[in-house]
Amino acid sequence: MHDKTLTELAACLAAGEFTSRELTESLLARIDRLDGEINSLITVTPDAAREAADRADAARAKGEAGPLTGLPLAIKDLFCTDGVLTTAGSRMLANFVAPYDASVVERLKAAGTVSLGKTNLDEFAMGSSNENSHFGPVKNPWDLAAVPGGSSGGSAAAVAAGLVPAAMGTDTGGSIRQPAAFCGITGLKPTYGRVSRWGIIAYASSLDQAGPMARTAEDCALLLNAIAGHDLRDSTSVARGVPDYTEELAAPLSGLKIGLPREYFGDGLDPEVESAVREAVKVYESLGATVREVSLPHTHYAIPAYYVIAPAEASANLSRYDGVRFGHRCEAPTDLIDLYERSRAEGFGEEVKRRILIGTHTLSEGFFDAYYKKAQQVRRLIRQDFLDAFEEVDVLMGPASPTPAFDLGARKDPVSMYLQDIYTIAVNLAGIPGISVPAGFAGGRPAEGRPVGLQILGTHFAEARLLNVAHRFQQATDWHLRRPAFAEENA
Ligand code: GLN
Repeated sequence: MHDKTLTELAACLAAGEFTSRELTESLLARIDRLDGEINSLITVTPDAAREAADRADAARAKGEAGPLTGLPLAIKDLFCTDGVLTTAGSRMLANFVAPYDASVVERLKAAGTVSLGKTNLDEFAMGSSNENSHFGPVKNPWDLAAVPGGSSGGSAAAVAAGLVPAAMGTDTGGSIRQPAAFCGITGLKPTYGRVSRWGIIAYASSLDQAGPMARTAEDCALLLNAIAGHDLRDSTSVARGVPDYTEELAAPLSGLKIGLPREYFGDGLDPEVESAVREAVKVYESLGATVREVSLPHTHYAIPAYYVIAPAEASANLSRYDGVRFGHRCEAPTDLIDLYERSRAEGFGEEVKRRILIGTHTLSEGFFDAYYKKAQQVRRLIRQDFLDAFEEVDVLMGPASPTPAFDLGARKDPVSMYLQDIYTIAVNLAGIPGISVPAGFAGGRPAEGRPVGLQILGTHFAEARLLNVAHRFQQATDWHLRRPAFAEENA
């Protein structure tokens, strides 16, 4: 059961091959047996899962099952979950039990899904390797010496290890697409505003977006159907109808115009990653697409602009964790200042502190115009690059990450970690959607290498098109069917 997609599991449940309760028990047992090694889940919720599974089975017996009824998944521990620990991967929130569900969680529950638990992540979603978690690093099921990517590393690893068929992630600068690429699964970052941010612990509010991580584009479409849509509680969520994302999945690709951004194939790109991506593009040509080179001339400024904007927004969002209103409180404070200082010093990890300092600095008087305002102007140019490119082509393709998964502990200085985001971050600055799909292996370690992700980008609200383009690739290739030895040996 652990090997199947959501779509396959839904068919099994509908055919009565097994119940949601049986499926849930089997995956809970697997988590119990294997997650000690992977560390993909911070909290497992067996009782709530059993209850939800029983409710789903009862609904099915009454003929009231929808497409997701009884299907198990896991949720990044950045989404508030009513009555369940919600840590954001931080010591600051190590004891925080959320008093309500995030909108996404509410919608997933209403759709009848069964959450098995909360997945590990980089603290407050800041990172590209999951090594910034207070709850310890996550291991990549393809090679336990490698990172799973970040910040949604727990979600990606849990799916790759066969602990859950799908998981929710969030993506502020690449945190769905890069871990999906590193773990050989499919991950979609929707258009900014497509999915409600309400109840998701904020990192950089103008960039944060939730999305599905699963084995296939088809499964991502099913999940997006459930989570997308306007929400009055999130003022940036967009009042726009939600199509059925499964409807266009199989549409033919003849005439599809693909653009390859020149800047995504330059220095720093691992040659084996490049050749896997170019092979994938050839598959599209064989499906009737045409390919041309395009340019996104301001790509070079995306990382500097992001690392001004995201820390600025983070420093504002994280000011609420003061040990009084929210978060960890130090022992025996001598006065209020001591309480603030020690609570924050103890509660936050290194990377989070670095970003709070950067953000506080760039927002301070005398620096605001030089940094934050300038970065916002650059952001405009980056967005315009994409809009210009989409005048010429339907989708853009390139690597999700310049390298396959690197070794745990291999990237010590923050800048080399930030460079991981080079192909993903501009997408968040522009607000457009992107998906990463498995497209081969690179690196020769272990023998077959580590997974490579093909990134496909579309214009605002082009999710249906992206899912269609990804799905057709998955019908023509079998990269998404490969499973890590870890999952197979532990079948
Ligand atoms: N790696 C980027 C960062 O550290 C992006 C993280 C994310 O998308 N949440 O900020």
